[in-house]
Amino acid sequence: MAFKNLGIIDPILQALAQEGYTTPTPIQQQAIPIVLQGRDLLGCAQTGTGKTAAFAIPIIQHLAEKKQHRPGIKALILTPTRELAIQIDESFAAYGRFAKISHTVIFGGVSQLHQVNALKRGVDVLVATPGRLLDLIGQKYIDLSKLEIFVLDEADRMLDMGFIHDVKKVIALLPSKRQTLFFSATMPPEIQKLADSLLTHPALVEVTPPSSTVDKIEQRLYYTNKGDKPALLLYLLQEKKIGSALVFTRTKHGADKVVKLLQREKVKCAAIHGNKSQNNRQNALNDFKSGKLQVLVATDIAARGIDIDELANVFNYDLPNIPETYVHRIGRTGRAGNSGLAMSFVDGETLKELKDIEKLIGKKIPVIEDHPFPFTGVVPEPTPAKPAQKPASQSGNRSSDKNRKNRWRR
Ligand code: AMP
Repeated sequence: MAFKNLGIIDPILQALAQEGYTTPTPIQQQAIPIVLQGRDLLGCAQTGTGKTAAFAIPIIQHLAEKKQHRPGIKALILTPTRELAIQIDESFAAYGRFAKISHTVIFGGVSQLHQVNALKRGVDVLVATPGRLLDLIGQKYIDLSKLEIFVLDEADRMLDMGFIHDVKKVIALLPSKRQTLFFSATMPPEIQKLADSLLTHPALVEVTPPSSTVDKIEQRLYYTNKGDKPALLLYLLQEKKIGSALVFTRTKHGADKVVKLLQREKVKCAAIHGNKSQNNRQNALNDFKSGKLQVLVATDIAARGIDIDELANVFNYDLPNIPETYVHRIGRTGRAGNSGLAMSFVDGETLKELKDIEKLIGKKIPVIEDHPFPFTGVVPEPTPAKPAQKPASQSGNRSSDKNRKNRWRR
């Protein structure tokens, strides 16, 4: 199957060739013809499946093929995070570079000046996060009365992040005659209800079953003590020569702490989380993408939707307490045909989280026992017991490991 067979016009085919895309991904194969027909779509797919191009390509084509060109926003893509918004806008720029379409992106946390100026020049495609969109609609800089296509991206994330109310407010402002494309990695009941209320006879495209883990990703579990997690991370990064990696922590403070520890050991890294400015986060992301940084440490909210080509490694430094988050996190790797490795650290306090994750993904994550920082407590069933004293045999013949541990454990 080639892009040509999907009925895509030449200017877009040329742009895709420049991007180096040779074959459409499964979601693109299924969704592009449906969207080109003007049908509503319910796409069950997570980031990394190629879903952005699955909606961006037919939208660009729809706009490029329109005979008379009336001014006004014709497509709105609503997405939960600024990073994702920027990436979607970049995708429109890339795939639409030979089609005459105008597009812009708006998101909060930065001055609205440039965004308003771009809107004043007129755009066909607007990519937006909900808060800034409502703000600029309120200030009368945005008129959605000419809208033809609405894309709700990462609907389940909108719910997780508390944006669902804003999303509903935006939807209430859209013309009722429109094409709607609805994307969500998971389908909790509230999201299903929203989809039912928004879509008319939608085609369902499901590329991985909801909440299943992408098969190409190798998952590994490391039982360790909470205080040994920094040492274990360094051991894997430096001695096991894990290359660049995205490291997830549960809290902003935790992310900063990991960065400090790694920097002390000369690992080039940075943190991205909600306390960092938008510029700061973008710079860190760019430096990571360009290879200047080996490690990016992120909280879930900040990492949502981050698109890093060829990211090979993800660490769950802290296991997430929402099992679906595990699937989203590890889905950052193993994208578009690449293989990926997801390594999770489990201490005595996160056994319950592990159980929930394994229940959700329907399998046991393989345990790596051969590492110098094993969990020294009893792995309890079903509730964690107090960690026992370290057995003499474990510390006795591992003096180098012990030194390393003492160096890093602070
Ligand atoms: P997405 O799921 O939209 O975030 O896309 C994931 C990654 O796959 C992005 O880095 C895209 O540039 C890349 N990608 C999307 N479609 C294709 C394709 N057909 N061939 C190769 N790479 C692709």
